[in-house]
Amino acid sequence: MIKSALALHHTGFPLVLAAPSGAGKTSIAHRLGELRPDIDFSISCTTRQPRAGERNGVDYHFVNEAGFEEMIAAGDLMEWARVHGHLYGTPRSNLEEARVRRHLLLLDIDVQGSRQVKRAVPEAVSIFILPPDAEELVRRLTGRGSEEPAVRQRRLAAARDELRSAGEFDYVVVNDNLDRAVAEVNTILDAEMARASRLENLPHRIGDLVTGLENSLGPVVDGYQ
Ligand code: 5GP
Repeated sequence: MIKSALALHHTGFPLVLAAPSGAGKTSIAHRLGELRPDIDFSISCTTRQPRAGERNGVDYHFVNEAGFEEMIAAGDLMEWARVHGHLYGTPRSNLEEARVRRHLLLLDIDVQGSRQVKRAVPEAVSIFILPPDAEELVRRLTGRGSEEPAVRQRRLAAARDELRSAGEFDYVVVNDNLDRAVAEVNTILDAEMARASRLENLPHRIGDLVTGLENSLGPVVDGYQ
């Protein structure tokens, strides 16, 4: 993460995690948050009702449809989509704030939103989380037990449709084992952070190195230029 004495730092960028419901992306996101202090979680706005234990401003910003429409009209959302009958969207300010801190902004959003983020912010990194197999996915989706059969059916159909989009993402990680999947995402992030194009102070640091070398160059070496 921190590039030793050279102190290279990257520009903050969005990390989109998408997956069919039940693939375990929320668990992966939480574990990443524990591992990396350079991750900010994007808090979305939604028109759905809070579930038990969810807190406004922590899990989501819970708003009504009129409020949501106003944010769309004002251009305040980086992306938005209707998911399972409710509106969800990412405030643009989330990314601006993460960038000021040079942090990654982790977005736990659906496939429609992921596409919009990639269009709006091409340097975003998108990762699709796959369940290990269909059986496990169905078990995880129906094992929640909190939804009615019709809702479960809708979630299964939505999962099937989302699975078909996996090839559009930059990376695909199979969540067969949480520790392994988290480690893989973490490796992807380390690699992405080392991209030359993201290192905003690279020219400055290289300039320092070159100056340091030139100060040590004697007239003999100069003769080779
Ligand atoms: P839930 O209501 O279960 O928290 O989320 C339902 C779905 O909406 C999940 O797939 C979640 O990733 C997605 N979602 C949450 N926030 C956003 C958002 O800001 N934008 C989009 N496009 N999808 C979101």
